[in-house]
Amino acid sequence: MPHNTRVVAIANQKGGVGKTTTAINFAASLAHYGQRTLVIDLDPQGNASSGLGFPKDHVEKGSIDVLLDQAELDAVIQNTLVEGLDLLPATRELIGAEVELMQASQRETRLQKALASASSHYDWVILDCPPSLGFLTVNALVAADSVLIPVQAEYYALEGLGELLRTLSVVRKRLNANLKREGIVLTLHDTRNNLCNMVEEQLRELFKEEVMETVIPRNVRLGEAPSYGRPILAYDPSCWGARAYLSLAREVLSKYEISTLSRMEAV
Ligand code: ADP
Ligand code: MG
Repeated sequence: MPHNTRVVAIANQKGGVGKTTTAINFAASLAHYGQRTLVIDLDPQGNASSGLGFPKDHVEKGSIDVLLDQAELDAVIQNTLVEGLDLLPATRELIGAEVELMQASQRETRLQKALASASSHYDWVILDCPPSLGFLTVNALVAADSVLIPVQAEYYALEGLGELLRTLSVVRKRLNANLKREGIVLTLHDTRNNLCNMVEEQLRELFKEEVMETVIPRNVRLGEAPSYGRPILAYDPSCWGARAYLSLAREVLSKYEISTLSRMEAV
């Protein structure tokens, strides 16, 4: 891929913190602002794939085939119903992927190589990681320019964050010296809940400006959209969840000084 592509891994080894919801809706929001965006589903559960209209049972080839050199990345990309948003889906075979990858040569750098040799052009590639720090996540961290860490606003939010940050520094030392922290984004937040507010305060005190200004609220519409195979912008574009993910995209784009005129506004 041309070198101006930005690759962002959405990672946290905790499950249920909003990684997939963030991957889908951050990516769709980038596409909304005219950015050509690819989501790569690296989670064997295939939630990002089904959430974008490609249930894993319906997909022949996907990310694992690319990782195991059994398919070309360009050949297995699917167009989603959102203009400018493509998907490299997960397939059922991704379940055995950790094991197969473990036995493969250059097991940590396979995604990086696949992206480097792909000829499709994207402004952004968003990697949805599984809830573990295994080879799939390591492949994502090696291929990525930066990592965005969703953290659920709850009592145990900080637990596990240390382990993730240590993994990041090991990857940086040994495999990808350029890996940056894009930021920490608070998810599933409820401002009426004191605990959520306390967690937010604590996180901002600890990680300062690394915590994104945008907070993703707990919003039922965000939970409903995947069962329709749609990002929130194609399901209920005016709900708070949709607005929050648009705001997250604007916040990231502005860091890179990329204009955020949406396609419609630009006409
Ligand atoms: P992860 O990928 O980290 O396991 P998910 O994004 O799949 O987390 O989210 C876990 C569950 O919570 C899913 O059912 C999802 O639809 C729901 N969910 C995620 N974010 C929100 C939110 N902001 N508001 C309401 N429900 C959410
Ligand atoms: Mg997930």
